Amino acid sequence: MKLGVVTYGHPVLREKGKRIEKITPEIQQLIADMFETMYDAHGVGLAAQQVGKALQLTVIDVRESKERPSTLELEGRPADPASIMPLVLINPKWTPLNEEEPGPEGCLSFPEIYADIKRPESIDVTATNAKGENISFRCGGLLARAIQHEYDHLHGILFIDRMEKSDRKKIQKELDGLQYTTKQLIKKGRRD
Ligand code: ZN
Repeated sequence: MKLGVVTYGHPVLREKGKRIEKITPEIQQLIADMFETMYDAHGVGLAAQQVGKALQLTVIDVRESKERPSTLELEGRPADPASIMPLVLINPKWTPLNEEEPGPEGCLSFPEIYADIKRPESIDVTATNAKGENISFRCGGLLARAIQHEYDHLHGILFIDRMEKSDRKKIQKELDGLQYTTKQLIKKGRRD
């Protein structure tokens, strides 16, 4: 089932996600619904907070983004990033492997808003998958960026928090407008 994506101004986007200790049927259903929602919105990643659930759960699929490549290493060997897609990350952790560099980002909770954000180009990732197994891999490019963006969501951090001050200033009016609209929708009981 397609879920509603909450937009900037909804308090759940600032909540740190609870760890998931057991993959229940409810969690499996949530994962399926999050993929449906993400594909419908043509996103490459979606965090549980964005569908109103403060949990350590995100879904990612970068296969459609041919113009922004990703790299993957499994057990020290180069692998096809598509081989781990669609990707479910539960309770993920990551460590940086190099310096930050800017790259373009958008977010389904911020329609029509884009900015360059500085993040490490490649990272090591550990997480639990949808079967409850521990997984680890090294990745770069768009996949590494998407994972860091979604990891931030799981901790109540938004990409606007990482924008250059000058970029943020340019879009502040749009942000204020979006926040206002979201709060109005909540008031009317349409987004709770
Ligand atoms: Zn986002």
